[in-house]
Formats: sequence, C-alpha cells, structure tokens
Amino acid sequence: MPDLTTDVRYIKGIGEQRAKSLEKLGIRTLKDLISYFPRAYDDRRAYKKIRDLEEGENVCVEAMVAAAPTLSRIRKGLELVKLRAVDETGALDVTFFNQAYMKDNLRAGETYTFFGRAEGAGRKRSMANPVVEREGSRLMTGRIMPIYPLTAGISQMTLVKAVEQGLAACRRLLPDPLPDQVRREHQLCRVGYAYEQIHFPASEEELAIARRRLVFEELFLLAIGLKRLRGRRDALTCASWSDTDLSEFYGSLAFTLTGAQRRAIEDIRGDLAAGRPMNRLVQGDVGSGKTMVAAAAMICAVRNGKQAALMAPTEILAEQHYKGLAPLLEKLGAACVLVTGAMGAKARRAALRGLESGAARVAIGTHALITTDVVYHDLGLVITDEQHRFGVNQRSALAAKGERPHLLVMSATPIPRTLALMIYGDLDVSVIDELPPGRQKIDTFAVPGSYRQRIYRFLEKEIAAGRQAYIVCSMVEENDQIPDDRKAAAEYAEMLQKRVFPRLTIACVHGRMKPKEKDKIMSAFAAGEIHILVSTTVVEVGVDVPNATVMVVEDADRFGLSQLHQLRGRVGRGRHKSYCILVSDNHSEETRARLKVMTQTGDGFRIAEEDLRLRGPGDFFGQRQHGLPALKVADLTCDIALLKEAQTAAMDLLVRDPELSGCPETAERVKVMFEVGGNAMN
Ligand code: ADP
Ligand code: MG
Repeated sequence: MPDLTTDVRYIKGIGEQRAKSLEKLGIRTLKDLISYFPRAYDDRRAYKKIRDLEEGENVCVEAMVAAAPTLSRIRKGLELVKLRAVDETGALDVTFFNQAYMKDNLRAGETYTFFGRAEGAGRKRSMANPVVEREGSRLMTGRIMPIYPLTAGISQMTLVKAVEQGLAACRRLLPDPLPDQVRREHQLCRVGYAYEQIHFPASEEELAIARRRLVFEELFLLAIGLKRLRGRRDALTCASWSDTDLSEFYGSLAFTLTGAQRRAIEDIRGDLAAGRPMNRLVQGDVGSGKTMVAAAAMICAVRNGKQAALMAPTEILAEQHYKGLAPLLEKLGAACVLVTGAMGAKARRAALRGLESGAARVAIGTHALITTDVVYHDLGLVITDEQHRFGVNQRSALAAKGERPHLLVMSATPIPRTLALMIYGDLDVSVIDELPPGRQKIDTFAVPGSYRQRIYRFLEKEIAAGRQAYIVCSMVEENDQIPDDRKAAAEYAEMLQKRVFPRLTIACVHGRMKPKEKDKIMSAFAAGEIHILVSTTVVEVGVDVPNATVMVVEDADRFGLSQLHQLRGRVGRGRHKSYCILVSDNHSEETRARLKVMTQTGDGFRIAEEDLRLRGPGDFFGQRQHGLPALKVADLTCDIALLKEAQTAAMDLLVRDPELSGCPETAERVKVMFEVGGNAMN
C-alpha cells in the first residue's frame, strides 16, 4: 500500500525522467505531490452548442470530426492541422499550430470535447489550439482545471493526472496539523477534503472553503512558530548595559534630533538595559535620519566596553556611513575602521588587527564584515542598514561573531503597519514617522516622453545654477534574456554626452561595475565633479549628495511606487529646491493612477499602501527578503482578517498547551516550517 512517503515513481506515468523533473519542483514523495498546489484555475465548466458560441468566450464544445484532419506546412517552422467539427447546430473550424500529431490523434466520425476561445460568428466559427479530449473523459475539460507552475519535462496534463492518482492513494492518510478543537471552533473543513478541493474544486464555493482552511492552517503554524521563537529569545539573557548616557553625543551633533529619532533611541536604550539581547527594527522613511539612531546605539555599546558593527548593503553606502560617522564617533573616543571587499589588502589587515585586539571599537562595512577572517574582540552590537537588502543568513552570520549581541536592523522600506508584525515576526519595531525640520517637498511631475527636450533644458538650467542631477533608466530586456542594465545606462549616458550636453560632465554607474569603479564615480559625483549621473537603480538606497536637485526616472512605469519613492529620496537632501520627473509613455489607466500617487504625496507609508493596493503583494515584496518561512497559500496582504483569527487561535492554543504536547502533528509541522527560513530569524 502506498503511503505519504511513497516515491512519486509509484504513480502511473511517472518514470525516471519525469521523477527527475518533478524533483526540480521539490516533489519526491506522494505527500510532496499532493502538497503541490495550483497557482491558478481555469474554469472550463461551460458547454455550448456551436450555434450559440459568442466571440471571445472560453468554452467547451462537444462536436464530431466531420472529415479526416489535414496537415499542411505553411513554411519552415509552421505546420497547420485543420479540421471541421460539427454538432446538430453548426460547424466549427479547428486549427492546431505546430501540433502535427493532432492529424493522427483525431479521427473522422468520432466525437470530442474541444475547449478553447471561440472566434467568428455565423457560418465562420473557429477555434485555434483548443484542448481536446475524447467525449466524456472530463480530465482536461468540463471542470475547473488547476494550473500548476511547471518545469521543463512536465506538462499540465502530466501533473493533473499524477495529482489525481496521488490524492486517490493517500488523501485519507494526511495528518491534520490543526487540533480538532481549533478546526471546529473556526469552522474549518478537514484536511483531506481541503487538499482534494484545492486541486480539483467542484465549484467556487468549495474552493473558497478549501482555501480558507489551508490559509488558516498556514498562518496558524506561522504564528505559533513566531511566538515560540520570541519566547526562546525572551529567555536569553545577557549583561544589562547600564551606562547609556547620551548627553555628550547629543551635545556633539550639529542639529537637534527629531522627536521620532529620540523615541527610537529611547526604545533602544530600554532594550539594551533589559538584560536580554535586543532585536529591534527601526523603520523610517528615506531621509528620516536612521543613521543617527544607529550612531546612538553604537555609542552605548562603546560606553559599555563593547564593540559595534554596522553592515551596509553596498560599498558606496558603507563608505558614506564611515565618512559620516567616524569623525563623530572618534570625537567621543570610539576608534572606527572601515571593512569592505574593495579595500587594499594592507588596509584590510590593519583594520582586522584593530578589531581583533579591541583597539578598534566600531566596524563599518559591507558583507565583508562577515567573512571568516574577521574576528572581533568583543562584539556586542550588530546593526544592519537597509536590511531588506540582506538575506537573513547574512544578518545572523554577523551576529554569530559576537556572543548574543544586540541586534538592530534599519529599513526604509515602509511596510504598512498591519503587516509589520507578521513580516518581522519576532522583532520589536520602532517607527521614525517624522522628517528632520526644513525638508521641503520635492515637486514631482509625471510626463510623457515627448517632454524630453523640455526636461533637458530644465536640467541645463539647474546645472547652470550649480546643481547636479540623476537620470535613472530601467533595465532593458531583450526578448527573454537577462535584463542588461549596463547597456541601458551606458548607451543613454553616451547619447546625452554626444547629442544633448556636449559641454557637461556626464558619468554612468551600473550594477555590473566593479565596486571600486562605482565608488570612484560616486565620490566624484558627491564632490561635484560630475553634472549628471546616469544610472540604474544602484543609486536607490542611501546615497547622500545634497547638491543634487533633480531626479529624472525614465520608463517610470517599470518601477514599483516604493522604489520610485526611494529614488526620489536621493534629491531634496540639501537646502535647494528639488524636483523629481517621472517619464513614461505608458498611458494605461493603471500606470497613470500609480504615477499620480507619486505626484500627490511624499509619505512613504501612503505610497507603500497604494503600491500594495495597485500591484499586489507579489511585486511589492519582490523576492523573499523578509526572512519569513515561505507561505504557499496565504497572502499576508489580503488575508488579514484570517491572519488575525489564526493568530488569536495560535495564542489560545499556546496558553492551553505551551509545549504542544497534546498536538504533536502541530509541533512537527511548525518545526518543519521553520527549519528552512526560521532558524535565521533571530
Ligand atoms: P536615512 O533615514 O534615509 O538613513 P540619514 O540618516 O541618511 O537618513 O539622514 C538624512 C540626512 O539628514 C543626513 O544628511 C543627516 O545628517 C540629516 N539629519 C539626520 N537627522 C537630522 C536632524 N534631526 N535634523 C537635521 N538633519 C538631520
Ligand atoms: Mg540610511
């Protein structure tokens, strides 16, 4: 008898070759197979007579092949199989492109079900490339079809057949990770039924019931896992940092910190003194002054005899932090070193010696900070900047260099508050919701490409007044190839230099440059030696050039709103009036609505929320950057009500049964869920 752990090769039709392909989808056992959920559905339930077909509708037609199909070669690479199918109401011309085998598959006089898009009207009705099967088969037609994500060597049909067999073999053996009581209290269907209906729903209603249960289950397990992580963290202890007097630091600043900065710092001081390792996220819009909050935390570390490390995602940012922070920190007696991959071997050795001996108190750098040869004397505080750029593993690799160090992560990605809790799981969150005074609104315009000459003239005027500008171009995609950002930026820069601004200094940075080259150009730009910097999104995070006042974004519709907001944050950093010009020739209503949001508000949170609303969460979060275990069915932005319900249920269960001893299946599933991404979530 097959069970959940049986190899997929048990399934009829799955041999060595297909098993290999399935493995690429993470499918090895029958359990894996039936846990491979569809990404979408295609409703193929509607049947019509030929006479009633309406142009453009997707529908099933049962019809007889009237005469043997014909095959013709139109030209090289294009083969056409044609046939005429009839029912008692009319005739339908069916064509298949490049499916020569259809000629022999379909026989005159036999009746088949054709599912496809109906074209034409009256006597000229047709269907191109329909799905075909023998009448009454109902495998690929006549029902709501699952659509699975595929890989080479595996077709929808193969998966549909395999999953059907898999479900029949072991749907009843699925253990239920939801305790019975929870399932009943929240009116959730049984696990076997949910699996069956999520693959082959009998109707929309059954699909909704199945999905609700599976989403609940996933969020429930997630909530339990996060709560337990947090419990484990709360149980950790470390020395309390009692000396967190910052008056000297405050006194040495050229400006007064904003209320929001102070509040974040107070949160941190509280954490540091609590005798437990801190795990805090500081979230603040671009330009809200997160760096100073980090500096305050570093001062606390130093005052308590510990070392601090600040990790930035790019060389440019690391250097910028170093240049900005080192003088400030050294004035207060904390020796700083810079550690990046781009620095020379000699300088690097000196820096590492300082960190190992403890002579250096603060390390600022890139992921070079976590390579194995970096040894810290006594690392007590780890800060990551723009943390969404780091994999969680990098974060924990740095943390592992100290003994239970305090962790602080800083992010400018404004995540709507409703989500922050779930996304950041077991982190405490401080929000800097106030910009330093005197920041002016950045005038933002959304314009079509026909405005380009006017934009160039405007740039000329700003540059004549002593300012500088960024032009960001998005990546060019050539057919299906990897987008080439180098080409886009370099060609654009060359064109500008030759044809538009022969007398100005124009430079270009792109993602494929060596860090050293990139840094050289960025430094030259910061020093005012370059008038216009053409780039791809490498300028997106962090860089601070107060003299730059214009940000032009080409093909602005290709960027997410939050990304545009980050880009815009590169200007308006000094005392000069600043502008952001979003160029797009995409006139769709959706694009216009999105770009309009940018012209209307400078509030990163509002923009993030709009972005979510307009684009959906998939795009918003990009890759899995938040470090949560991957969710298969739940959607953290749409399933908020269910999220709350599942969370409450999880907390209730943990109160009743903190060790989950009464529900081993729940415990097991939480463990599995967190084995992949979760162990790094500290
Ligand atoms: P971000 O939050 O984007 O990292 P930064 O820390 O880079 O922001 O700060 C942006 C700019 O604002 C820097 O030039 C910084 O010196 C300045 N700044 C930070 N805090 C204040 C403040 N309270 N008042 C005035 N300027 C500030
Ligand atoms: Mg910053």
